[in-house]
Amino acid sequence: MSWHEQAPDTAPDRDGPDRALRGRPLWTALRRGFLGRCPNCNRGRMFRAFLKVADHCPACGEVLHHHRADDAPAYFVILIVGHIVVPSALIVEVLYAPPYWLHAALWLPLTLGLAIGLLQPIKGAIVGWQWANYMHGFDPHAEAEGDPSTDPMRQ
Ligand SMILES: [Zn+2]
Repeated sequence: MSWHEQAPDTAPDRDGPDRALRGRPLWTALRRGFLGRCPNCNRGRMFRAFLKVADHCPACGEVLHHHRADDAPAYFVILIVGHIVVPSALIVEVLYAPPYWLHAALWLPLTLGLAIGLLQPIKGAIVGWQWANYMHGFDPHAEAEGDPSTDPMRQ
């Protein structure tokens, strides 16, 4: 067998019939999470506070506390806002060369508004993404995680 041939699958089937996971639509979960809705039922609210994900969906009971969005929302918000604000500032500077106070008056509020406005939707989409792919604690076959009330990583 050469290096590029696929080895026959002789490993025991760890995802047998009793372990199969139901497919979850990724884009639906992303959209529902972006809108702050439960990725499972689209009825319950995902957030119990601005950036605090509810432990369970209040409508369908889907467990949400074991997401691991961590700092990914901030990363993606910086990426998106940077790609909006920096080219905009450069274009305005090249076209109009306004005074610096006008740059500050334009871009600082826009940056702040976009960052605050996008944080919750982006976090919701990331939680929906993790949910759709059974990542981290969303995988029922993963090692059982601790009680959410004692989990220091819970947000
Ligand atoms: Zn739900």
